[in-house]
Amino acid sequence: MEELNKVKSELERTKLELGILYEISNAMRTTLKLDEILYIILTGVTAHIGLGFNRALLFLINEKNSLIEGRMGIGPETGEEANRIWSQIENERKDLDDLISAYEASSSSNNGSGTNFNKQVQKMRFSIHDANETLLSLVALEGMPLHLTSETITNYRNTPIVQMLKNDEIILIPLKAKNKINGIIVADNFINREPITKDDIRMLNMLANQAGLAIENSQLYEKTLMLTNSDSLTELWNHGYFQFLLHTELEKSRAMQKPLSLLMLDIDYFKVYNDALGHQTGDKILKELATLLKNQSRKIDFVCRYGGEEFAIILPQTDKKEALMIAERLRMDTEKYTFAYENILPNKKLTVSLGVASFPEDGLLPAELISASDKFLYQAKNKGRNQSCY
Ligand code: GH3
Ligand code: MG
Ligand code: MG
Repeated sequence: MEELNKVKSELERTKLELGILYEISNAMRTTLKLDEILYIILTGVTAHIGLGFNRALLFLINEKNSLIEGRMGIGPETGEEANRIWSQIENERKDLDDLISAYEASSSSNNGSGTNFNKQVQKMRFSIHDANETLLSLVALEGMPLHLTSETITNYRNTPIVQMLKNDEIILIPLKAKNKINGIIVADNFINREPITKDDIRMLNMLANQAGLAIENSQLYEKTLMLTNSDSLTELWNHGYFQFLLHTELEKSRAMQKPLSLLMLDIDYFKVYNDALGHQTGDKILKELATLLKNQSRKIDFVCRYGGEEFAIILPQTDKKEALMIAERLRMDTEKYTFAYENILPNKKLTVSLGVASFPEDGLLPAELISASDKFLYQAKNKGRNQSCY
């Protein structure tokens, strides 16, 4: 009889566990956006109805530069906050779907930066070969889960991750896709101090297998998206995506009643350069100029290849006065830069002309702004080139 009860309760638990995994993997299939995937994973690890850990952190491994980067952290920073959030979850009978919808709502309102804990995690970044962060490196390199308890954690006291978590029991699980380790989940029970059980670890392992694949899929999707929208020579946004960006950024400006400016930039006497040195040398210049424009622009700007040797730069939340300053800075940066064989050009220097148009004064629609910036660019050419008109 006792034996039967044991089997029964084990069955009950397995049923519950499968239910949780089913919920989480379903949720992961609803989106390909990396941030949403990561949030679903961590919600699954921390929610009461999920694995129920008090805190969870997710690191991604950037294989290209051997970096371990903190991407997201979920977990109430204090016990009080924990109780508030959890009683809310219980009282309102929220399930995973609700949590994900809540994330979508909050990330569109506050840029998803969220809590202090999350910000702290996002600042963490280590080389896989970092002599200090031996703990994360060990998991990343060995691909094995690590369960640290009060006895074993002392060996890692000085690692940034243990210093940050200030707890003496944590679990670290690698995320894998096709035998490659692409991330690490760190979790603990900082608030209620409940010991981490074998069952917890088994569940976390199963979730990690799903999570690793979901992350890989989403990264592949984002890379494909990036490639289809980029110009292959310059790696800037291509013409089609420029049109999309201008449209959506203008909509945002209209809604927020903020200005927006558009720079149209064209190389001076480029035909001379091409005719003398050939198109391949010309292409090299286009690539170099594209890199210069990208490096000298702000993070919020969109640098695009409009076509041929013409570039368009969308400046969100920027009025004409500021846009003109930016245009002039780009013009002077180009003038100062040394391009190969530029002395064959009429001015002995490779230079550019710019047209600056702004929303709302020069137009309300994308097409109106494009033709206004074109008109000003034409003026700059007529006035003798190497200048900005507005
Ligand atoms: P302007 O100062 O009036 O702009 O003179 P320009 O010679 O630059 O004239 P325009 O802007 O009409 O330049 C067109 C030339 O740019 C034609 C071609 O030689 C060159 N060009 C356009 N697209 C490409 C490209 O993709 N690669 C290369 N190498 N050259 C290009
Ligand atoms: Mg041109
Ligand atoms: Mg030109």
